[in-house]
Amino acid sequence: MLLDPGPGTLIRCAKSRPPLDPTQLDAIILSHQHIDHANDVNIMIEAMTNGGFSKKGALFAPRSALEDDPIVLKYVRDYLNEIFVLKEGATYTLGDIEISTPLRHIHPVETYGIVFKTPRYTISFIVDSRFFPDLIDKYKKSDLIIINVVRYDGKGGKKLDVDHLNLEDVKKIIKGIRPKQAILTHFGMTMIRSKPWEIAEKIEKEIGIKTIAASDGMEFDLEKQLL
Ligand SMILES: [Zn+2]
Repeated sequence: MLLDPGPGTLIRCAKSRPPLDPTQLDAIILSHQHIDHANDVNIMIEAMTNGGFSKKGALFAPRSALEDDPIVLKYVRDYLNEIFVLKEGATYTLGDIEISTPLRHIHPVETYGIVFKTPRYTISFIVDSRFFPDLIDKYKKSDLIIINVVRYDGKGGKKLDVDHLNLEDVKKIIKGIRPKQAILTHFGMTMIRSKPWEIAEKIEKEIGIKTIAASDGMEFDLEKQLL
């Protein structure tokens, strides 16, 4: 599965060592249509389906990404086996994985966080959002959370009025959910400059939940790393 194919996804796949083969994908998921999350969706549908010659796979996307700002081109939609329109409170299945979207996030466009339930793990992808308490309640039963931390808004700093999480919000969420592990990702420049790996260490010390900062190309082995 590929979640949120932002700009450069196909090139990243090709440059990865060993390369990641897009024809092995079963599904592409868009949390919302913003360009940093969806720019390469058409390219990746083409790549997944061998330019449309091998009709296959599924696309999961909010209605808004398909209709209001139709970021998915019409001609590539025919290359897919199925298109699932994401809705709040819905559950979908893909093989033995249950995919659910328990909550519409507060973000300028229709946006959903994604929960993946495998036979062994529950993994929540807490995507772009303004902070609100449901982010804790709806993702409470997660073994692993992956969370988009765009803003740092350091100590005493004024919170910028945007529909994104900052570090304090993310700490509240990790504390509230208490997963086995948390992975921070989707850093804006204020986070990058503040060294996300050091921030992750501090969170782990402060809250007592294993926390790591994602980096480009990072692999995470569920069986070995999520004990
Ligand atoms: Zn966004």
